[in-house]
Amino acid sequence: MAGLKKTIIRTGLETLYFTGMHHLMRPLVGGVGAILTLHHVRPPRADAFQPNRLLEVTPVFLEQLLRRLSRARIDVVSLDEMHRRFISGDFKRRFVCITFDDGYKDLMRWAYPLLKKYQLPFALYIPTSFPDRLGELWWVALEAVIARNSRIGMVINGKDQFFECATVRQKRELYDAVYGYLRSMKTEDELRRTVRDLCACYQVDIASFCRDLCMSWEEIVELAADPLVTIGAHTVNHQMLKKVANDAAVRAEMEMSRSVLEAALGKRPEHLAYPVGDATSAGPREFRIASELGFKTAVTTRPGVLFKAHRDHMTALPRISVNGEFQQQRYLKVLMSGAATAMWNHFRRVDAA
Ligand SMILES: [Zn+2]
Repeated sequence: MAGLKKTIIRTGLETLYFTGMHHLMRPLVGGVGAILTLHHVRPPRADAFQPNRLLEVTPVFLEQLLRRLSRARIDVVSLDEMHRRFISGDFKRRFVCITFDDGYKDLMRWAYPLLKKYQLPFALYIPTSFPDRLGELWWVALEAVIARNSRIGMVINGKDQFFECATVRQKRELYDAVYGYLRSMKTEDELRRTVRDLCACYQVDIASFCRDLCMSWEEIVELAADPLVTIGAHTVNHQMLKKVANDAAVRAEMEMSRSVLEAALGKRPEHLAYPVGDATSAGPREFRIASELGFKTAVTTRPGVLFKAHRDHMTALPRISVNGEFQQQRYLKVLMSGAATAMWNHFRRVDAA
């Protein structure tokens, strides 16, 4: 996230918080509940260059969050229970679902003991290529290429271009620029090819990140046995589905990941998360296919709280990202009140287009 954008978000949150406006707005926008998104949970690292830090929170922050949730007049529920409440129109109490994307090892080590301690249900969305050790964590690979070099070359629009990245500031700027360039590509194949080329050029082993960071099948099987845990599908290859041209390929990504998980765990996943999950990665076609495949719910990363009207859009649910750049409880309080996301969404409640 660019520094300026971050500042604007933070200032916006501070303004809402300090004016107490989120309380005033709550009856209007607080909705019936919220789904929280987390990725990594691990102790803070000292590196100055951490472009993916928004994807991690510390165990201390997580524990504060869990303690707050278990004391609040909010039910922390499983995805199945959330689905039941929507279908039966049971909105007596506000609820929160806790979800983790991608299945990182640090969840097992740092988050799971806390979730068990507070006895809170949670869901884990697994892209099956990750435990199969075939996943490409291209955003982590890009970080490594830039972290380990002081100058890198890339072919852009058919031309060799070189970028200085000796200082932390240059690294941050270059990461943001290259990340934006990759995300703007028409297909994910093109994105992956570019990152693979960079890794080959700068001796970064892209396969190592999947091996080192992601849970093994044994660990997933162990977690899945706990009644607190719901395992959801997150496709096979963790591609931005909206960029996949062929409908059948999108369907296969969802269906195959469900079958592989079912074979490994003996239980058919009924919930799905779209990889990356913003409006450029999942749209009406993906929402329709997930619904046709019979998933009870499917989640995006579009920001928002849940309203009764989401009952008719159960495969296009918004989430609240627990962002590592904003690890202060007061920010989370504002986000969960729905005030901030209502402003981002221009007070439109359901965004399923
Ligand atoms: Zn993911």
